[in-house]
Amino acid sequence: MRGFKLLINGKLVPGATTLDVIDPSTEEVLAEAPRADRAQLNEAIAAAKAAFASWSDKPLRERGALLVRLADALEVRQDEFARLLTLEQGKPLSEANWEISFTIRIIRHHATLDLPNKILKEDSTQKIVRQYTPLGVVAAIVPWNFPMLLLAIKVAPALLAGNTLIAKPAPTTPLTTLRFGEIVSEFLPAGVFNVIVDRNDLGDVLTSHADIAKVAFTGSTATGKKVMCSVAGTLKRLILELGGNDAAIVLDDVDPVEVAPKLFVAAMMNAGQICLGAKRLYVHESQYDQICEELARLARETIVDDGLKPGTQMGPLQNKAQFEKVKGYIDDARRNGKIVAGGEVLDRRGYFIQPTIVRDISDDARLVTEEQFGPIVPVLRYSDINDAVARANNSEYGLGGTVWAKDLDRAFEVAAKIDTGIVWINKFLDVSLDVSFGAAKQSGIGTEFGQEGLEAFTQAKIINMAK
Ligand code: NAD
Repeated sequence: MRGFKLLINGKLVPGATTLDVIDPSTEEVLAEAPRADRAQLNEAIAAAKAAFASWSDKPLRERGALLVRLADALEVRQDEFARLLTLEQGKPLSEANWEISFTIRIIRHHATLDLPNKILKEDSTQKIVRQYTPLGVVAAIVPWNFPMLLLAIKVAPALLAGNTLIAKPAPTTPLTTLRFGEIVSEFLPAGVFNVIVDRNDLGDVLTSHADIAKVAFTGSTATGKKVMCSVAGTLKRLILELGGNDAAIVLDDVDPVEVAPKLFVAAMMNAGQICLGAKRLYVHESQYDQICEELARLARETIVDDGLKPGTQMGPLQNKAQFEKVKGYIDDARRNGKIVAGGEVLDRRGYFIQPTIVRDISDDARLVTEEQFGPIVPVLRYSDINDAVARANNSEYGLGGTVWAKDLDRAFEVAAKIDTGIVWINKFLDVSLDVSFGAAKQSGIGTEFGQEGLEAFTQAKIINMAK
């Protein structure tokens, strides 16, 4: 595959060393990525700092126009990006196309936003105004499940607000971000956007650096806690979007045949590697057997294969570490529950696991209490809805959740009792770009999307003037 370069101070440069990127469908080396050392990271931060003055000084509409150009440039390369994403991440091409389209939509949406001064009070004696000023250099740190989408959620509001950036993808999925950097280098001023690739060794250097004003981090809760410690030294602004163990609560009035495919998608999209995926399904006892059977049938019928192959419905796990971790959950499920579909790795090269449905599993099994982040889901039986809600809430996580029901009033009542940042009723992963949300409990801190998500990349400053 073609060579990839880091983007530092507007120049595409080789890394100090290199990093092998593995194709999860074959376990072969897909490409060599440039790997930065500490000096290159410092150079990128210095460039971003130097670029801040003139970038933040540009009128917001001018920055918005550059975002539109960026979205246009991605759109004409949609096929290339989707293919590259499938190759490095493993997801089926249809899902990769969805991710790239959503990435473009996020960038376009932000280009329409504004940060006008707000007059909070005005009378004959005074005028009080709130102004939103950019922060400086933002570190955007992204995991490997949605490399482009999660990058766009940070890059678009940060750039529009007038900040400059260091983007750091996960070491196993750096290629789409590096390619994105190449495109950006064609029309954003030098230093405004920089791409650094590491091997999980520069995160702390980046987040603790005195010249980073804000860290926008998406990843696991364990790493998020390290980031929080690391930014404390300079009291940086911080947004953490972390792990989840979302419950899907299925009320007793649903049509099992109708709801099962929706639950299946919520649990298995992106081979279960979704922060907001349905990771525990609570089903009423009256429908438990039928829904388990339907889910098992759907699991058996799923075509698991190379994401580039037409007809593939589920790709491999993204990396070997996650593959091994999910195999551990299968062992746990075998000991503590009953596997009714899947439970096997495919007999071929690549990190492939057949979608796995587990029933009759105890609430304290690891598969139920931890975030599995893979194509295996426990189905738990309940008889009393309050008990189901209590069990759903019995988690250190509080990211999202879903409720499935015919009676929308009852569904709303249940949703209102779930302790998370977002709950969908009869739908899944439907994100409204103009509606802000953030996580509860140990699933994160801060909000993304909407006006609030944009304002989170600014300092809200009060100007209080005597008349
Ligand atoms: P991870 O925490 O291992 O890595 C995420 C990123 O952090 C990578 O870029 C990694 O290189 C970097 N990193 C590693 N050590 C670091 C350090 N000490 N300081 C700073 N950065 C460091 O997470 P992962 O395994 O790549 O991703 C999966 C996790 O991400 C899951 O828990 C998932 O739920 C979560 N996630 C959350 C959201 C959300 O919006 N809440 C979205 C997607 C994924």
